[in-house]
Amino acid sequence: MLDHKSTQPFTQAEYLGSGLTSQRVRDRLMSLLYQQGIKNLELLEVMRRVPRHLFVDEALNSHAYDNTALPIGYGQTISQPYVVAKMTEALLQNGKPEKVLEIGTGCGYQTAVLACLAKKVYTVERLAVLSAQAHLTLQRLQIKNVAFQHGDGFAGWPEHAPYDAIIVTAAPEHTPPALLQQLAVGGQMVIPLGKQRQNQTLYQIRRLREDQYQPHTLEAVLFVPLQTGVA
Ligand code: SAH
Repeated sequence: MLDHKSTQPFTQAEYLGSGLTSQRVRDRLMSLLYQQGIKNLELLEVMRRVPRHLFVDEALNSHAYDNTALPIGYGQTISQPYVVAKMTEALLQNGKPEKVLEIGTGCGYQTAVLACLAKKVYTVERLAVLSAQAHLTLQRLQIKNVAFQHGDGFAGWPEHAPYDAIIVTAAPEHTPPALLQQLAVGGQMVIPLGKQRQNQTLYQIRRLREDQYQPHTLEAVLFVPLQTGVA
């Protein structure tokens, strides 16, 4: 188990990993992502550095750099590295965003990747225990430009709106209206849409004008559902 009681920064040895969590194995994953079409080198460099093994249970460490989703407890998953890369690359298309809203903090891995590329990340999670764990993990990684909220992402986080970029890491059937409202004009959102366990599609939605949004299909995906309410 990750030692969730420790609030100390991760040690150099924990950070560097060894064997199946070593830099060599992480680099192999980055080559694979590049082959799969992820061409943003700055993003690949960030993903090379962010230690995914410190976001999952120690029992899953040997799989941390497989290109697969992994369980993080409470019926939730850490997204597949390719999906994290694809979504982040889409968000970076117009350059690095200043202010990003993330819905679905989960273990905080995607949050950490975003924090290395944006000025400030606001992240909302409906499960209190996951939000607290992610907060602690980012604190131990000494990532400081992230604000956490335990809340229902269907409502976004209006206090800090508008956002240059919004990323949703769980799938609703339709785009939540609050998120469309909180997107800055000229900004973009990346969101999976569709029914649970059925074909879902990843969309990139640009807000061209106050009242004009342009959706663009990225690819077929499978996400856990965006659920209402908090727990
Ligand atoms: N990016 C995360 C993905 C976690 S899975 C990671 O890589 O770890 C999706 C997350 O969305 C889960 O943690 C789930 O609890 C959360 N979620 C689902 N519905 C939500 C909602 N309405 N508001 C906020 N978070 C939600």
